[in-house]
Amino acid sequence: MKNMRNKILVAFLMSLLAFQCSATAADSGKKEDKAPEIVTPGNNHSAPSDAIVLFDGSNLDAWQSGDAPAKWNLISSESAMEVKKGAGSLKTKQSFGDVQLHIEWASPSEVKGNGQGRGNSGVYLQGRYEIQVLDSFNNETYFNGQAGSFYGNAAPLVNASRPPGKWQAYDIIFISPKPQKDGSVKPGSFTVLHNGVLIQNHTTIKGGATTAAAFKGMAPEGPLVLQDHGNPVRFRNIWVRELNK
Ligand code: MG
Repeated sequence: MKNMRNKILVAFLMSLLAFQCSATAADSGKKEDKAPEIVTPGNNHSAPSDAIVLFDGSNLDAWQSGDAPAKWNLISSESAMEVKKGAGSLKTKQSFGDVQLHIEWASPSEVKGNGQGRGNSGVYLQGRYEIQVLDSFNNETYFNGQAGSFYGNAAPLVNASRPPGKWQAYDIIFISPKPQKDGSVKPGSFTVLHNGVLIQNHTTIKGGATTAAAFKGMAPEGPLVLQDHGNPVRFRNIWVRELNK
């Protein structure tokens, strides 16, 4: 009887050891055999080596106003461009799918207006999904319409705004919604840092086309659009890295 108990105990300990060994092997996984591409990072928010530079302060060649040349003002002393009231929104000549985007902006230092009327512009991914640009420094508005909101859909997690006139940065990871063969749509997402602070954490992209049928005739890629909302907002240092290509 004692012998039998010992045998059961040994069998139990052996199976425990085997389980632990297999768990360790599973944790280590398979070794990756493809080296990551080498990218030289930028300095001080400048573009990394594999980025497409959309604006470096020298010209508006990557942009257009409708089908015409871009009409916004170049401010050479700041390597910036500024919304020219009534000139319309700017869009890139190139279209994009999933991207990492870096863009810097500044609302006017002279504070005018309230709520949505103060330093309003916007960054539209694929011309459809807006990350709001607004002077949200001591300026109340509806929360899913303040700076860093996915406009009309999701307020930022925190308000990381700098004062009016100061340069601010958005770093955006945009994964576009993708129509599937079965008629459904794989949701997209936004992850956004505002001045280095996480404000959108893998936020699901709602709104826009929600079924594959609604995507019919809609290009899988689209331009980056900067909004003319009538306020002289400035932009500089704009670059994208294309993802999942
Ligand atoms: Mg806007």
